[in-house]
Amino acid sequence: MNNRFMGSLVAVAAVATGLLLATPHADAKVVTDADATSAVTQTSVLQGTAKTDGGIATGSASLTPAAKRWQSATITYKIAGGSSYYHSVWQSAVKSWNRSGVIHLVATSGKADITLADKNSTLGKNSTTVGITYSSYYHDKTMNDLKVMANAKAYVFKNVANRYHYSKAERTNVAVHELGHALGLEHNVGKNSVMYYATRNQMVSKSDVNGLKASYR
Ligand SMILES: [Zn+2]
Repeated sequence: MNNRFMGSLVAVAAVATGLLLATPHADAKVVTDADATSAVTQTSVLQGTAKTDGGIATGSASLTPAAKRWQSATITYKIAGGSSYYHSVWQSAVKSWNRSGVIHLVATSGKADITLADKNSTLGKNSTTVGITYSSYYHDKTMNDLKVMANAKAYVFKNVANRYHYSKAERTNVAVHELGHALGLEHNVGKNSVMYYATRNQMVSKSDVNGLKASYR
């Protein structure tokens, strides 16, 4: 390839970049990621096949880390479909976080920040993932160095919870964990945190409330 040809390639690239930048700013671009919970057996021993999920577990166990937050501490939610059983599972999870006094989850019948639901996992019959949260955040907005969330959807996988014989209280703990992700929290390295990556018996702990306080200060 001669220099003259290279020169024209660079020019084309420059024009293309210019066109992209010149595009009027449409809707703020949002980025989506997912965070899952691994199921644990009754004895709290991880299954041989269980792996840590994509969540980040960093820092001290006394402060649950966060990567994101909502712009306001008042956040709307909606429990989508599901049975009265799962409606009450999610309702208990909402109460657990509202008790922290740091954020205020408010039910809405309209467009909600957070959607809560149960469904069957399609990750295969050997999957140990018992819950998952998908969230979107604005690529160009931060508060307290945290990405500002645009939307979140949290799920409890009922077929996996059934297979692992999770009780209603244990399913609620999974729901609390997923809702924690929907509030912007990441995984805590400590096993006493509800944000420990493999949740069964854990409930909202002091370190989880501290994490929320740090995010929504
Ligand atoms: Zn998780």
